[in-house]
Amino acid sequence: MQDISSPKGMRDLMNEEYYSFQGFFEKAQEVAVYYGFKPIDTPILEHEEIFTTGIGEGTDIVDKEMYTLKTKGGDHLALRPEHTAPLARAYVEHGMQALPQPVMLYQYGPIFRHDKPQRGRYRQFWQFDLDSLGNDKSIMDALVIKAGMSILEEAGASSLSIDINSIGDKECRNGYIRELTNYYKKHIGQLPGIDRERLKTNPLRILDSKEEKTKEINEGAPDSISFLCPSCKKHFKEVLEYLEEMNIQYNINKNLVRGLSYYTRTVFEIMEQGGAEDGGALALAGGGRYDYLARHLGSKKDVPAVGISIGVDRIVASAWYKKLTPRILKKPKIYFIQLGSEAKLKSLNIIEILRKAHIPIAQSLSKDSLGSQLAIAEKLAIPYALIFGVKEALDNSVIVRDMSNRSQDTVKLPKLLEYLKELK
Ligand code: AMP
Repeated sequence: MQDISSPKGMRDLMNEEYYSFQGFFEKAQEVAVYYGFKPIDTPILEHEEIFTTGIGEGTDIVDKEMYTLKTKGGDHLALRPEHTAPLARAYVEHGMQALPQPVMLYQYGPIFRHDKPQRGRYRQFWQFDLDSLGNDKSIMDALVIKAGMSILEEAGASSLSIDINSIGDKECRNGYIRELTNYYKKHIGQLPGIDRERLKTNPLRILDSKEEKTKEINEGAPDSISFLCPSCKKHFKEVLEYLEEMNIQYNINKNLVRGLSYYTRTVFEIMEQGGAEDGGALALAGGGRYDYLARHLGSKKDVPAVGISIGVDRIVASAWYKKLTPRILKKPKIYFIQLGSEAKLKSLNIIEILRKAHIPIAQSLSKDSLGSQLAIAEKLAIPYALIFGVKEALDNSVIVRDMSNRSQDTVKLPKLLEYLKELK
């Protein structure tokens, strides 16, 4: 038989996990709105060039991990492997440069990367992003980091710190890359094949190589901070001052470059100490500045911007996750019981009256006997039962039973909402 299971690294979100995601999203959205971010939902598919030009070749995402397809009409599309390039595309396409700047937006949704699935690593996973576009000030970097940290803390995270670095702008970055390339060329004999390839396409990537030999070579590599031009140096210093002022623990990580070519100046990752399987730090979120991305996507002017992507799957799977309850999940106060065909016929009308009055109920309309329905009400520990039998259906009334002491009142339907309001 054909394999009809879900694709590898992709799963059905349901039951508790679904609610965990929804509860997280509601809280993240609330924090985002407090900080002044507005919502946007970009399509899950984009033209492939949005990513190849934006993220750049020589990156794992573009070279190995993107799901691409050719449509019947001949378009080359890709399932989004991240939220930032689509957002910059939307900013340019809708002429958002004409709005008061910065434009602050949040996004939530599935991301697709054809990576090797393992614990905390899926091929379809969810990210919540915050971005500020149209302003180059260091306080925007600080705002995005702070709002991201608050979301993680609201979700229950505590041992957080941030790894941070600055990779400079077009003034200083090229000088640095030249120096770095020269350094690696000197060690080319010892560089593993994959990193020798990177030396041609994207030398910065060698800094976050997973190869043991390269890690050793990286210890002596020049660091980008020493090459920052005065304005990048000032910007980075200010970002760090903001973090200090907010008591955010940071660690300057000279090997942090975050791979994607669109990054400029600040790059950072929020780490949970001890969160990884081997007891090391686990990345919960990452981000940085991308001051030149919009120009690659058709903007006539640069749009300095900064953002953060928070990985939702890892948060809701953590032992510390607070199980934020989604607003739609309400504990039922009433169990609705119906007996006999006249009552069943009218039951949905009564349930609709309760729904409109926002009274959460539970029911098992498919059941017929009083005993089985009462047993469920007791099992669920619901405080009141509404019993609607043949007599009540004819009288236009309902019996309200207090499940704790089994006392009952018969209430006329037009008075029901008023009566229920009085109950504890
Ligand atoms: P990145 O932009 O790749 O650093 O991703 C930002 C955050 O998304 C990471 O810190 C992770 O929490 C999460 N993330 C990245 N890749 C995956 C994946 N394959 N599966 C689950 N979460 C991921």
